[in-house]
Amino acid sequence: MVDQVANLLQYGIAAARAGRAEEARQALIKVIEMDEHNESAWLWLSGVVDTVENRYICLENVLSINPRNGHAQAGLQWLEAQHPDLPARLAQEPPATEERCPRCEAPVPYSGASCPNCGQALVVVCPACRDYIEVRKTVCPTCGQQLGNFHDGVSYYLTLTRAYLANHRGELAETTLSYVEAEAAKSADAGRYLGEMAILYEQMSKTDQAIAIYKRAIEHTPDQASLYARLGTIYRRRSMPDEARSMYQQAIKRAQGSPEILFELARLDFEENGATKTVLEILQEVIRRRPDHVVAHVILGDLYVEWKQKGQAVDYYEKACELSSEKTLIGQEARRKLERLRPSLPEERTQGWGETFRRLLGLMLLPGLAALINAGVSPWRISLVACLALFVAGVGGYLWVCAVDIPRNPAMRALFGPQGVKSTGQKALVGLPGAILWALAFGLILWRV
Ligand SMILES: [Zn+2]
Ligand SMILES: [Zn+2]
Repeated sequence: MVDQVANLLQYGIAAARAGRAEEARQALIKVIEMDEHNESAWLWLSGVVDTVENRYICLENVLSINPRNGHAQAGLQWLEAQHPDLPARLAQEPPATEERCPRCEAPVPYSGASCPNCGQALVVVCPACRDYIEVRKTVCPTCGQQLGNFHDGVSYYLTLTRAYLANHRGELAETTLSYVEAEAAKSADAGRYLGEMAILYEQMSKTDQAIAIYKRAIEHTPDQASLYARLGTIYRRRSMPDEARSMYQQAIKRAQGSPEILFELARLDFEENGATKTVLEILQEVIRRRPDHVVAHVILGDLYVEWKQKGQAVDYYEKACELSSEKTLIGQEARRKLERLRPSLPEERTQGWGETFRRLLGLMLLPGLAALINAGVSPWRISLVACLALFVAGVGGYLWVCAVDIPRNPAMRALFGPQGVKSTGQKALVGLPGAILWALAFGLILWRV
């Protein structure tokens, strides 16, 4: 900023010395817009302005900054000698300049940032190169940044604000929002513009302002559900649950069944009251309307964790993992929660062959023992039929284990995909024949006593 002022001043002085009055005037005015107490700028400007009145004002400004400036003293003395009526005339009239507001044509002061008559901004800062630019320009002459047309009013200022935010120029964005507010008030679309303005305040983390502007937007467009919903979310983040709930309910009344708003209400309820049946029902409704809602799946998982129903929780976390990339925050959270539910030896214990056989062995104990007793406790005397029956019991027992205990063992994953035996239908398909085979084989062994 300081460098920029110094460079512009140098440039203005050089232009004035070279006799390029218009160029000098523009540069020096820019200097004064940035630093209205710049003594040199006012002094040099006095040499390049068009009218006697303006020259007089420039010199007076120099003296008000530095009363001992000899050039200014001499210049004023000379001017007063030439035009004795000048001081009295200037005292009566407002300063007349050749600068006029581009919108309402009212005369505007040299160092003014906005029109005193209509509020139009006269100078804007380029969001990209930060140069000061006349509001008439649609493209920055310094860097070529698109600035838009100021005749567009509110949307011009909104676009400018977004550009400032994108360039991390928070204070400029805030200044520009005051223009948005003034213009929005005159617009027939005030509600919509105020809503957009409030979103920008939210992005700037200025939630007090955002709340105030949302409330004004609601006054203009009381049927706009999203305004209530956003206000509700601000209240929720501020730990004002009652206000938040009331806003969400207003929003739901106006937007029949928007899954996003339902979800916000459920999340608020969950944070406030923990795992309740109401939260469960709302979240299931959210998923019914938007089956790919990742966060809703994660919270449903949390709900079942609180209810100590691990199986259900795993199902929801798994679905959330399926729906999200592990690069996203929510994707990582879902994977972390899933891992926490299956902490030690997850692969070996729930999916491996070893565990499958261990359980199978348990199931074979009874038929094996029966066959052994039938054969007079001499293993070599077990009949061929009993051996066959034992084999059938093994197959049946294996299917049963797959359906009930180890639904993800490698064979089942090869058959049904990474989830293994999951749906009730699949469980019946695998488990029922297994149980029947095992029971038949066991029966056969017992019967052949
Ligand atoms: Zn104006
Ligand atoms: Zn620029």
